[in-house]
Amino acid sequence: MNFQKITLVTFGYFENDFLQKLIKKIHTEFFINVQLKEGHLDLSDFYEPNRRQYDANKLLHHFEKEYATDDSKTICLINVDLFIPIFTYIFGQAFLGGRSGIASIYRLNNERYGIEADTNLLLERFAKEIIHELGHTFGLIHCQITDCVMRSGTYVEDIDQKNISFCSKCRENLMLQQNNK
Ligand SMILES: [Zn+2]
Ligand SMILES: [Zn+2]
Repeated sequence: MNFQKITLVTFGYFENDFLQKLIKKIHTEFFINVQLKEGHLDLSDFYEPNRRQYDANKLLHHFEKEYATDDSKTICLINVDLFIPIFTYIFGQAFLGGRSGIASIYRLNNERYGIEADTNLLLERFAKEIIHELGHTFGLIHCQITDCVMRSGTYVEDIDQKNISFCSKCRENLMLQQNNK
Protein backbone atom coordinates (compact mmCIF):
# COMPACT_ATOMS: atom_id res chain seq x y z
CA MET A 1 0.00 0.00 0.00
CA ASN A 2 1.22 3.44 -0.86
CA PHE A 3 -0.10 6.25 1.29
CA GLN A 4 0.22 9.50 -0.61
CA LYS A 5 -2.14 11.59 1.39
CA ILE A 6 -3.97 12.20 4.59
CA THR A 7 -7.73 12.67 4.48
CA LEU A 8 -9.71 14.41 7.17
CA VAL A 9 -13.42 13.64 7.00
CA THR A 10 -15.55 16.04 9.00
CA PHE A 11 -18.83 15.05 10.63
CA GLY A 12 -20.86 18.00 11.80
CA TYR A 13 -19.80 21.61 11.63
CA PHE A 14 -16.19 22.75 11.87
CA GLU A 15 -15.21 26.30 10.95
CA ASN A 16 -13.29 26.43 7.67
CA ASP A 17 -10.58 28.71 9.03
CA PHE A 18 -10.08 26.30 11.94
CA LEU A 19 -9.81 23.35 9.54
CA GLN A 20 -7.29 25.14 7.33
CA LYS A 21 -5.06 25.84 10.32
CA LEU A 22 -5.43 22.22 11.39
CA ILE A 23 -4.35 21.03 7.96
CA LYS A 24 -1.26 23.21 8.11
CA LYS A 25 -0.18 21.77 11.44
CA ILE A 26 -0.74 18.20 10.29
CA HIS A 27 1.09 18.76 7.02
CA THR A 28 4.10 20.10 8.94
CA GLU A 29 4.41 16.79 10.78
CA PHE A 30 3.90 14.35 7.92
CA PHE A 31 5.06 16.26 4.80
CA ILE A 32 2.26 14.76 2.72
CA ASN A 33 -0.89 16.31 1.30
CA VAL A 34 -3.84 16.72 3.61
CA GLN A 35 -7.28 16.85 2.02
CA LEU A 36 -10.70 17.56 3.47
CA LYS A 37 -13.94 15.70 2.92
CA GLU A 38 -17.39 16.12 4.34
CA GLY A 39 -18.97 13.03 5.83
CA HIS A 40 -22.59 12.29 6.63
CA LEU A 41 -23.83 10.06 9.35
CA ASP A 42 -26.88 9.30 11.43
CA LEU A 43 -25.27 9.39 14.85
CA SER A 44 -28.25 7.89 16.63
CA ASP A 45 -27.12 4.42 15.49
CA PHE A 46 -23.98 4.85 17.58
CA TYR A 47 -25.51 6.35 20.71
CA GLU A 48 -25.43 4.32 23.91
CA PRO A 49 -28.32 5.63 26.06
CA ASN A 50 -27.04 4.04 29.28
CA ARG A 51 -23.77 5.95 29.04
CA ARG A 52 -25.11 8.95 27.10
CA GLN A 53 -22.06 8.60 24.90
CA TYR A 54 -21.14 7.33 21.46
CA ASP A 55 -19.58 3.95 20.79
CA ALA A 56 -16.09 4.66 19.43
CA ASN A 57 -15.44 1.09 18.28
CA LYS A 58 -18.66 0.96 16.31
CA LEU A 59 -17.93 4.37 14.78
CA LEU A 60 -14.35 3.44 13.91
CA HIS A 61 -15.47 0.28 12.10
CA HIS A 62 -18.21 2.18 10.29
CA PHE A 63 -15.74 4.87 9.15
CA GLU A 64 -13.22 2.25 8.05
CA LYS A 65 -15.88 0.59 5.90
CA GLU A 66 -17.38 3.78 4.45
CA TYR A 67 -14.48 6.23 4.16
CA ALA A 68 -11.08 4.51 4.29
CA THR A 69 -9.15 4.07 1.05
CA ASP A 70 -5.89 2.27 0.21
CA ASP A 71 -4.07 5.41 -0.88
CA SER A 72 -4.77 7.52 2.20
CA LYS A 73 -4.64 7.65 5.96
CA THR A 74 -8.11 8.81 6.90
CA ILE A 75 -9.08 10.42 10.18
CA CYS A 76 -12.73 11.16 10.90
CA LEU A 77 -13.31 14.31 12.92
CA ILE A 78 -16.33 14.44 15.12
CA ASN A 79 -17.80 16.43 18.00
CA VAL A 80 -19.40 13.85 20.28
CA ASP A 81 -18.40 12.16 23.54
CA LEU A 82 -16.72 8.86 22.68
CA PHE A 83 -16.33 5.78 24.85
CA ILE A 84 -14.92 2.29 24.63
CA PRO A 85 -16.03 -0.28 27.23
CA ILE A 86 -12.88 -0.15 29.39
CA PHE A 87 -12.63 3.65 29.59
CA THR A 88 -14.90 6.44 30.85
CA TYR A 89 -14.21 8.32 27.63
CA ILE A 90 -11.59 8.59 24.91
CA PHE A 91 -10.36 11.44 22.71
CA GLY A 92 -9.88 9.19 19.72
CA GLN A 93 -8.57 5.88 18.45
CA ALA A 94 -7.18 4.32 15.29
CA PHE A 95 -6.30 1.04 13.65
CA LEU A 96 -2.63 0.35 14.40
CA GLY A 97 -0.84 0.27 11.08
CA GLY A 98 -4.23 0.59 9.40
CA ARG A 99 -6.01 3.01 7.13
CA SER A 100 -8.22 4.98 9.48
CA GLY A 101 -8.90 6.54 12.84
CA ILE A 102 -11.26 8.83 14.66
CA ALA A 103 -10.68 11.97 16.72
CA SER A 104 -13.23 13.91 18.74
CA ILE A 105 -13.00 17.56 19.68
CA TYR A 106 -15.78 17.12 22.24
CA ARG A 107 -13.65 17.08 25.42
CA LEU A 108 -10.91 19.39 24.18
CA ASN A 109 -12.46 22.81 24.68
CA ASN A 110 -11.89 24.83 27.83
CA GLU A 111 -15.58 25.63 28.26
CA ARG A 112 -16.20 21.97 29.04
CA TYR A 113 -14.05 22.46 32.15
CA GLY A 114 -15.51 25.82 33.11
CA ILE A 115 -12.55 27.78 31.75
CA GLU A 116 -12.65 30.63 29.23
CA ALA A 117 -12.64 29.61 25.56
CA ASP A 118 -9.28 29.61 23.77
CA THR A 119 -9.45 28.83 20.06
CA ASN A 120 -5.70 28.54 19.61
CA LEU A 121 -5.40 26.10 22.48
CA LEU A 122 -8.33 24.11 21.10
CA LEU A 123 -6.64 24.01 17.70
CA GLU A 124 -3.37 22.87 19.27
CA ARG A 125 -5.10 20.11 21.25
CA PHE A 126 -7.12 18.82 18.31
CA ALA A 127 -4.07 18.85 16.04
CA LYS A 128 -2.11 16.84 18.63
CA GLU A 129 -4.96 14.35 18.94
CA ILE A 130 -5.23 13.92 15.17
CA ILE A 131 -1.45 13.62 14.73
CA HIS A 132 -1.40 11.04 17.54
CA GLU A 133 -4.07 8.93 15.80
CA LEU A 134 -2.31 9.32 12.46
CA GLY A 135 0.85 8.08 14.18
CA HIS A 136 -1.04 4.91 15.14
CA THR A 137 -2.20 4.40 11.55
CA PHE A 138 1.47 4.57 10.56
CA GLY A 139 2.19 1.77 13.05
CA LEU A 140 3.51 3.85 15.95
CA ILE A 141 2.66 2.64 19.45
CA HIS A 142 2.53 4.73 22.62
CA CYS A 143 5.76 6.41 23.64
CA GLN A 144 7.10 7.04 27.14
CA ILE A 145 8.84 10.31 26.29
CA THR A 146 7.00 13.05 28.21
CA ASP A 147 6.64 15.59 25.43
CA CYS A 148 6.23 13.18 22.49
CA VAL A 149 2.90 13.42 20.67
CA MET A 150 2.64 9.60 20.84
CA ARG A 151 2.49 9.57 24.63
CA SER A 152 -0.91 8.38 25.76
CA GLY A 153 -3.02 10.70 27.87
CA THR A 154 -6.18 10.46 29.91
CA TYR A 155 -6.86 14.11 30.60
CA VAL A 156 -6.79 17.23 28.51
CA GLU A 157 -3.87 18.41 30.70
CA ASP A 158 -1.89 15.43 29.42
CA ILE A 159 -2.40 16.70 25.89
CA ASP A 160 -1.24 20.17 26.93
CA GLN A 161 1.92 18.69 28.42
CA LYS A 162 3.13 17.09 25.24
CA ASN A 163 4.45 18.64 22.07
CA ILE A 164 2.69 18.65 18.75
CA SER A 165 5.62 16.69 17.25
CA PHE A 166 7.13 13.23 17.40
CA CYS A 167 10.22 12.55 19.52
CA SER A 168 13.30 11.59 17.51
CA LYS A 169 12.72 7.86 17.99
CA CYS A 170 9.08 8.02 16.87
CA ARG A 171 10.04 10.30 13.99
CA GLU A 172 12.59 7.72 12.88
CA ASN A 173 10.00 4.91 13.07
CA LEU A 174 7.52 7.05 11.18
CA MET A 175 10.04 7.68 8.40
CA LEU A 176 10.74 3.94 8.16
CA GLN A 177 7.01 3.22 7.92
CA GLN A 178 6.46 5.91 5.32
CA ASN A 179 9.38 4.72 3.21
CA ASN A 180 8.38 1.06 3.40
CA LYS A 181 5.04 1.75 1.86
ZN1 LIG B 1 -2.94 6.39 21.35
ZN1 LIG C 1 8.00 9.24 20.91
